[in-house]
Amino acid sequence: MFRIGHGYDIHRTVPGRPLVLGGVRFECDFGLDGHSDADCLTHAICDALLGAAGLPDIGHFFPNTDPAWKNADSQLLLRAVVAELNQAGFTPVNLDATLIAERPKIAPHLAAMKAALAASAGLPVNAVGLKATTNEGSDDIGRGLAIAAHAVALIRKN
Ligand code: MG
Repeated sequence: MFRIGHGYDIHRTVPGRPLVLGGVRFECDFGLDGHSDADCLTHAICDALLGAAGLPDIGHFFPNTDPAWKNADSQLLLRAVVAELNQAGFTPVNLDATLIAERPKIAPHLAAMKAALAASAGLPVNAVGLKATTNEGSDDIGRGLAIAAHAVALIRKN
């Protein structure tokens, strides 16, 4: 039995924080604001997986009021989400995500991001789809004020 889920996340850009997307740290003069490392791509994937399993969202499992998740590596969150899925009797099958960022250039890092996400999700690299696009200068994402991500996940019942 297969089930699908969808996830979305957005974080504002801020100076003075490291930029981490899909588990990869970018050389960049800004990062994302948030309680954890603010990796919106990984958060969207977490929510897609949790949604597919009919579980509560990422904020339920890792509340931004909990000091334990302050500056947390979101790959640890993704690994914990997969453990929750396993506990509920599900296994991830594949992921597909779109990152929306005006800058920095994402393309040179796509392979590393896919590898990191696949490792955290316990999937082969060819089961992780990842695209990056811009918002063509429109809205806050287009002006570089935020970075967002959409994700879908397929899981199967064990
Ligand atoms: Mg988030």
